[in-house]
Amino acid sequence: MTNTTSKFDKDMDRDAAILLYGNAFAGLFITFITSTFLVFAFTYPSVEHFTLDWWFVMTFVLLVRLVDVAWWKIKLQNTEFDGKRSVLFFVTGANITAVLWAIYLVHSTTMNEDIEVATTIIAIASMAGGSVAVLTAHKFTVMFYPLILLLPGSISLLLSDKYNFQLLGVLGISFTLVIIVIARKSADFTRHTLFLKNQNANLILRMEEKVKQRTQKIYKLSNLDPLTHLYNRTAFLNQLKQLTTTNSSPFALLFIDLDGFKKINDSIGHKAGDEILRKTAERLKVFMLNSPLLCRWGGDEFLVIFEEHNPELIVKNAKQLIDVLSQPIAIENSILSVGATIGVALYPQQANTEERLIQFADMAMYYQKKQMRSTVGIFSEQMEKLYSYELHLKNGLSKAIEMQQLRLVYQPILSAQGLNVVSFEALLRWQIDGENIPPDNFIGIAEQYGLIHEVGAWVLQTACAQATQWQSEQSLAICVNVSVIQLQDAGFINIVKDALNNSKLVPERLYIEITESVFASDIVFIEEQIKQLQTMGIKVSIDDFGSGYSSLSVMQNLAVNMVKIDKSFVDNIDCHGGAIISAVMHIAATLGFLVVAEGVETEAQADALLKLGVHYVQGYKYSKPIESKQVNDYLKSNFNLLSTDSNKIANSTE
Ligand code: C2E
Ligand code: CA
Ligand code: CA
Repeated sequence: MTNTTSKFDKDMDRDAAILLYGNAFAGLFITFITSTFLVFAFTYPSVEHFTLDWWFVMTFVLLVRLVDVAWWKIKLQNTEFDGKRSVLFFVTGANITAVLWAIYLVHSTTMNEDIEVATTIIAIASMAGGSVAVLTAHKFTVMFYPLILLLPGSISLLLSDKYNFQLLGVLGISFTLVIIVIARKSADFTRHTLFLKNQNANLILRMEEKVKQRTQKIYKLSNLDPLTHLYNRTAFLNQLKQLTTTNSSPFALLFIDLDGFKKINDSIGHKAGDEILRKTAERLKVFMLNSPLLCRWGGDEFLVIFEEHNPELIVKNAKQLIDVLSQPIAIENSILSVGATIGVALYPQQANTEERLIQFADMAMYYQKKQMRSTVGIFSEQMEKLYSYELHLKNGLSKAIEMQQLRLVYQPILSAQGLNVVSFEALLRWQIDGENIPPDNFIGIAEQYGLIHEVGAWVLQTACAQATQWQSEQSLAICVNVSVIQLQDAGFINIVKDALNNSKLVPERLYIEITESVFASDIVFIEEQIKQLQTMGIKVSIDDFGSGYSSLSVMQNLAVNMVKIDKSFVDNIDCHGGAIISAVMHIAATLGFLVVAEGVETEAQADALLKLGVHYVQGYKYSKPIESKQVNDYLKSNFNLLSTDSNKIANSTE
């Protein structure tokens, strides 16, 4: 504001100078002609001494002023000159001229002939009148100039003895007063006009500045990510498009995805999450030497362009970048750290459009993450094949229920002692166009794309409904595999309730099999969900026990009903597997859960497991998973084969 104000004043001064200097040549010329005429015309050649001296002084002043005017016109006029200074120079010259005129007039009234005095006063009065137009840009001067020109002379005439002179004196004074009133009005008017002119200019200037600020704001809003100030998607895509259409030199696109970010965001909070993203962006900027080609692609994903074509160097640099990004970050009294997995796509060898580049780098990151977090992977064609296969599965899976391509098969779980069937585990099968797709291939995809909720609900409904069709003397349990993602869904409890209500299956017959990965997620919420299921009477098994990370305290807290020892330990029962199973049996005795050994294939394994005291067995040795409609036949033959020893899992686990 102060800036624009002082600029406003400066502009006003400059305009005043332009007006004053603009008319200066004509003014100086008239002054010179008039002074020369008055001095020489009447008395030449015997010009009076004083008048001649006066003429020299006046001519000198006029010459100095002429130089000043010329200097201004040539050197200053078209520059950002100091208006105040120029005005001061000009009015000083003008007022000295005025004083000289006053001296001349007073002198001539005392010395000269009637006609000469009359002519002089007429000439000077006309100049005083004319000065109003020329000096109007400076209020003091425009009033002082005619005043000093006429008033002293007129008073002097008034005081003389001659009646004619006295008349001239009265005329002169009246004329002076009129001119001064006009001069004042003219000066005010001029100043007002200049004021309006500059005010408009000032307004326009301020508007322009506002427009500029707005434009910058809009640029920021539409091009930069507000949190990290890196490019957003749209802006980065534009940049990348330009690079791919104009730049022929090769480069690498890095797709960076933070590892462990979601966990911090969910557990510690969004503030900490934001801080990590900001810090990551900062580190990226430093590492990339402030290269502008950085982008926050979304969430915890970043894109970077490396102007390098040698894959080895790219990987080396990317590894360094991972090290930099993985350094601990201090946030609110705690030290947090995230990792980063990087996928790389090469331009132009692998892709030459911005969409393909990003897609390939994303794929490379995705497969790298599956293999090992916090490492670098360069895109390969194999990944694209794998990706299109996954996409094909994903698209197929979303229609699988509707197209009735899903079905459940059942693998019996038997008591280790009497080998009578106590339960069946429901295992999902998907057949598409005659092709069987193993669950290990599609469950992950269903989880990733959120299809697991619908598929999982179908499994629960179907398993509960089919379990009520089993014809058995004993109350057989049904074990259903449930993904962590299903458990994380608040609606899961209702899905289970629906399955039980629709099938009329008693809750006590239902076992939910969850893997150890639950211990790695938001355990508080999941514990709550599991406890709700348990209060309904439903039981809980820990699947693939020993292959992941289990927390004994959480297991105790949850009162886990059953643990299924992973097949890998059964396979290794002769080596360390046996020792581990033995240890599990001890914990089982303490915490009070039952133990199933999975994937039993041989007689030797079965014998060893029996000796170790395992409660139940499951595996190809006893039966592969069987079709739903064959379950009753299987039960019949099993019943005939075995004694009806009553090791009833559903009852004994209470
Ligand atoms: P899982 O829950 O550990 O299931 C046991 C897997 O081992 C089954 O494979 C079963 O057929 C296989 N198996 C059983 N006995 C033997 C044996 O003696 N030797 C060998 N080599 N394998 C044996 P399947 O049916 O292919 O299922 C694989 C995995 O898919 C399951 O592992 C489970 O994690 C998942 N899955 C299957 N159905 C569902 C489901 O309905 N929902 C969810 N969320 N996951 C499911
Ligand atoms: Ca299972
Ligand atoms: Ca298992």
